[in-house]
Amino acid sequence: MSDSDDYPSAQRRRTEGSGVRRSHGGGSSGHNNTFQTKLFIDGQFVDSHSGKTFVVMNPATGEELARVSEGDKADVDVAVRAARRCFETTWKFTDGSRRRDLMLKLADLIERNKEELATIESLDNGKPYNESLNVDLALTVKCFRYYAGWADKIQGKVNPVDGSFFSFSKHEPLGVVGQIIPWNFPLLMAAWKLGPALATGCTVVLKPAEQTPLSALRLAELIHEAGYPNGCVNIIPGFGPTAGGAISSHMDVDKVAFTGSTEVGKIVMEAAAKSNLKKVTLELGGKSPLIICEDADLDAAVEAAQVGIFFNQGQVCTASSRIYVHERIYDAFVDAFVRASKRRTQGNPFRDVSMGPQVSQEQQDTIMRYIKAGKSEGAELALGGRKGQSNGYFVEPTIFTNVSDDMTIAREEIFGPVSCVLKFRTLEEAIKRGNRSNYGLAAGIFTRDLGTAFKYANEIKAGTVWVNTYNSFDAAQPFGGFKMSGIGRELGEYALSNYTEVKCVMIKLPEAPIKN
Ligand code: ADP
Repeated sequence: MSDSDDYPSAQRRRTEGSGVRRSHGGGSSGHNNTFQTKLFIDGQFVDSHSGKTFVVMNPATGEELARVSEGDKADVDVAVRAARRCFETTWKFTDGSRRRDLMLKLADLIERNKEELATIESLDNGKPYNESLNVDLALTVKCFRYYAGWADKIQGKVNPVDGSFFSFSKHEPLGVVGQIIPWNFPLLMAAWKLGPALATGCTVVLKPAEQTPLSALRLAELIHEAGYPNGCVNIIPGFGPTAGGAISSHMDVDKVAFTGSTEVGKIVMEAAAKSNLKKVTLELGGKSPLIICEDADLDAAVEAAQVGIFFNQGQVCTASSRIYVHERIYDAFVDAFVRASKRRTQGNPFRDVSMGPQVSQEQQDTIMRYIKAGKSEGAELALGGRKGQSNGYFVEPTIFTNVSDDMTIAREEIFGPVSCVLKFRTLEEAIKRGNRSNYGLAAGIFTRDLGTAFKYANEIKAGTVWVNTYNSFDAAQPFGGFKMSGIGRELGEYALSNYTEVKCVMIKLPEAPIKN
């Protein structure tokens, strides 16, 4: 791990464009980072009503990165009014082709500024810069281009009703939507939410996570530069119970889309129900099983097991946190998995490393508590298990073997680089044990047998099933959870229905000459 002098400046490379004022961050690390730190409401960057700010940390150094305006209920109220006005006077009348062109322009702007955005993301979240650039930014651009393609293709149906009527259904935008997103993929989660909302003609009040608000605010500048009308997108950094709570309980927000923990998902749904019964979609936690069958390609399975649990420092809702390995290859798999994982490098995200720090001290502490529980409940620590030595919030890639289903580490979502390796004998048993969870977000299997793969895909209760791959995403592929992993689907065509109301219109026609 190196000292903080290696951390780059997120100074914007291009200064033309939106002409917005930006604040200097850097805090005690003394770096000349320039970030947008104000709320984005009605096309303007403004201080919060209360004048309060909060500190955003660089998780790799434990130093202050920026101070960001702290939005709360008063700011959400103003943002919702702006979003409502924009929706009713402008956005719902804007042609689909114009919505398409704006989104394509936004995607181009993101692509043109991808290095700067990836730098912000890595400074703020701690993820390796190469991943920010080649995964987060690449998928963000693709997501916006994908939904730009839908913007002029939202269409209804003619309904084949009995009698002399003309009946058709149209898909109208829902209206003002609230979006609350997490810190693990800050920009990409914003794209997953904004893409379908703006494509269908909704206006948005979005709250980024308090740990990682900076890339969403830079995105706001690009949204402004792309030419979206004022009030169409509003970005309110702030805390969950205040700013987030104000969105989910607002009487003039038509829908709330949330990604985060199952615990908070319940609070959001309750607030939605108790206020105006706004529509709710939730993308929540997971404890996803990855099954390695006896006939699996072992090298490929080891690679996937690492991607499954160590990618993004394990802070992925689909993390393969339960790895079931067939008893006949268990020892060989564990040996290869541990050897390969030992080669993972961890440190300054701007160096050539495979892992950065966890996002926050709180997350680091939670993960260390789980590691302690794993040890005390009798699991065998095959690798890692310690914090990093620096001030950053590092946790070593950790592998537990001889884990049983009832242990805390095999049941609860850890959201960190902690792998549980379990043993199974028959496919039926693996499926049964895989399904024994309140979650149902994702699942994976490694096998060369198509019949085995299909049986697993059919019987496992999960929104995504990966066969001979893991953690592979595409904007065209629907994503979401069974059971307590969520409600509704993001991405793909399915996400569009989260943002539209179906209106049916029935018109009486002159009587037909022949009566049935
Ligand atoms: P994590 O525990 O991983 O930080 P959370 O579910 O707490 O995930 O947070 C995800 C998002 O939900 C963040 O933007 C956070 O601010 C927000 N949030 C947290 N609590 C609430 C709440 N009571 N109401 C609405 N949003 C909330």
